[in-house]
Amino acid sequence: MPFDLITIPCLTDNYAYLLRDHASGEVAVIDVPEAEPINAELKARGWTLSQVWLTHHHWDHIDGLANLLAEHPAKVVGAKADAHRLPDLDLAVSDGEHFSLGALDAVAFDVSGHTVGHIAIYVPAAQACFTADSLMALGCGRLFEGTPDQMWDSLQKLMALPADTTICSGHEYTASNAKFALTVDPDNAALISRSNDIDNARARNLPTVPSSLATELETNPFLRPDDPGIRATLGMQTATDAEVFAEIRKRKDNF
Ligand code: ZN
Ligand code: FE
Repeated sequence: MPFDLITIPCLTDNYAYLLRDHASGEVAVIDVPEAEPINAELKARGWTLSQVWLTHHHWDHIDGLANLLAEHPAKVVGAKADAHRLPDLDLAVSDGEHFSLGALDAVAFDVSGHTVGHIAIYVPAAQACFTADSLMALGCGRLFEGTPDQMWDSLQKLMALPADTTICSGHEYTASNAKFALTVDPDNAALISRSNDIDNARARNLPTVPSSLATELETNPFLRPDDPGIRATLGMQTATDAEVFAEIRKRKDNF
């Protein structure tokens, strides 16, 4: 593998990630919920931080930035569309814009919905996509700013990535997401099995992220509005995928 990918639990249920390019030794951190665990991981590995990639403006993804930069000066990358409410950016990226971490090519996707201006960052050579609060393990982010149609468009961009893509999302919400998923997709054997795996992992305090896109496509109800079983459960056999997605999102809000 030409890279390392490290998952760092932060705060009570957030995740940051470290991505390191072997060729150059350059390291990016994806989101900074708090500085201390990221500092500790960098120090333990003897790595020098090169870049910070911010997915969206919520405090629980940016709050540790100033303290992190105080110890590790690095180039900050974030959405151009959100530059007015993100910390100072060294590189402001638009939808589809490529940039690089050493030898690794990265591309930003606008995945508005949870917020307007949320980005996901896909690194093809690492087969990884940093989705934060857009596509999550067995879920998707709550729609604080965007519409269901916007989030559905965003999720479809992510669904088009290679199925073996590693999905690095922003929170440990998977166990409660699984409970909800089973209410709309109760007969999905892969979901039932994944739900058991999640309970076992959480009982041992292990993270349930990252996950793979293939697994999400099989089990995440927010990616499955075309599924006949889910449609039958919701009584929405003739609705559009976007309408079924909106109904699933609404039910999750009230779950
Ligand atoms: Zn958020
Ligand atoms: Fe968040």
